[in-house]
Amino acid sequence: GQCRAVCPTGAIIIKKENHKVWEAIHNKRKRVIAQVAPAVRVALGEEFGLEPGEITIGKIVAALKTIGIHEVYDTAFAADMTVIEESKEFVERLTKGENLPLFTSCCPGWVKFAENKFPDMVDNISTCKSPQQMFGAVIKEYYKKIDKEEDKETILISVMPCTAKKAEAAREEFEYNGVKDVDIVITTQELALLIKEAGIIFEQLEEESFDMPFGLASGSGIIFGATGGVTEAVVTRLLKDKPDHFAKDLLFSDVRGMENLKEASFDVDGKEVKVAIVHGLKVANDLINQIKAGERYYDFVEVMACPGGCIAGGGQPVPMDTAMRKERAKGLYKLDRTSHIKSSEKNPLVMSLFEDLLKDNHELLHVHKKSGADA
Ligand code: SF4
Repeated sequence: GQCRAVCPTGAIIIKKENHKVWEAIHNKRKRVIAQVAPAVRVALGEEFGLEPGEITIGKIVAALKTIGIHEVYDTAFAADMTVIEESKEFVERLTKGENLPLFTSCCPGWVKFAENKFPDMVDNISTCKSPQQMFGAVIKEYYKKIDKEEDKETILISVMPCTAKKAEAAREEFEYNGVKDVDIVITTQELALLIKEAGIIFEQLEEESFDMPFGLASGSGIIFGATGGVTEAVVTRLLKDKPDHFAKDLLFSDVRGMENLKEASFDVDGKEVKVAIVHGLKVANDLINQIKAGERYYDFVEVMACPGGCIAGGGQPVPMDTAMRKERAKGLYKLDRTSHIKSSEKNPLVMSLFEDLLKDNHELLHVHKKSGADA
């Protein structure tokens, strides 16, 4: 695959990190773990001649295992945690009437843009870490004791559609006592290269499933990869009566699709909640100016830097056009429809984590900023 030199959103030079993956795998003291973001599974196939939107997650897991990665997990598992934390935060803010609208925090391209351009709005951004960082914080905590006993070090590799995720993982608030939430971030394009470097014939791989316990995700966690997905997941979490997929298609018809600005309102516990969804930073910029000028009002705003959301991230296979973006998004909604678990709080493994490892440790999932705009 080709590789772009510059990130379209963060204006950073892309660092290739495959050599770090090989180094980790060949070090016997390392426990090497990978997490794979939702958007990767509907686009990687394009590097191997498959159609956009084709779901290749079974082969991706098999490829990562063949390369020598010990455990392979789903970032969508962490997205379920994000949904639970973020909807809790949203309800708290609604109740107090504070810091509304709540802006989503899972796109580092957007977060950095907001820090630089709208520092007065930063308190409106959710304090939730992104799924990538939540996953890292949890896995490092989970293996902390075991690593000590076994004299090992857990190395977490993220496979992301996104170049801005590299900068996010490097931010200093995501490191505690020298332990980073995420050690290495590779893009979908870099994963394709890694597979080719290893001499693996992707098409011939036998599919494998994620490892447990961090490999089980709800459909809500998976649609995070498409514009509107976070909103749909949070609203689904807040609805008392969960809609079946026909009702869901209807209820969320305004939040899906590729329009630059989407608006909808939902009845949450008898209160009308107004949401907006934007993708692309120019559109976000204009919308925020209108919000600040009092021309528009929302309770919840989802912002993704990439047009189409993460399915069209700067680390995804190129070329891509709107038709391809739509096909990739369709792949994620298909996974949602076929998922056994429809709503994040119905994910039994996430819920048991909340009762166990995270019981007195919810702060692991939230951002505590140490630094300012240029982190
Ligand atoms: Fe990365 Fe783009 Fe997704 Fe933001 S929208 S997290 S920049 S891929």
